[in-house]
Amino acid sequence: MTYKTVKCRACGADIIFLPTRNAKTNPTDAETVEPGDTLFDFNKHRSHFYTCPKASEFRKNTNKKRKPTPENKDNLIQEVLLDV
Ligand SMILES: [Zn+2]
Repeated sequence: MTYKTVKCRACGADIIFLPTRNAKTNPTDAETVEPGDTLFDFNKHRSHFYTCPKASEFRKNTNKKRKPTPENKDNLIQEVLLDV
């Protein structure tokens, strides 16, 4: 089974999303993945989270999404009102 190579949206590097043992996927540096690899292996593969020069931007983006925006707050209030 082969996995599709995609470009990192932040830095443009070739990465492959490999499944991990805990049923997640890990963006793996494509150059460390060999044909036939089916699981992310910490001893063999290199996670792109550690090599991406823009990895800090991923974290920033995730934090932004988790923070409630004024819009979300309004929606939440509406939902609560509807429930009552
Ligand atoms: Zn990257």
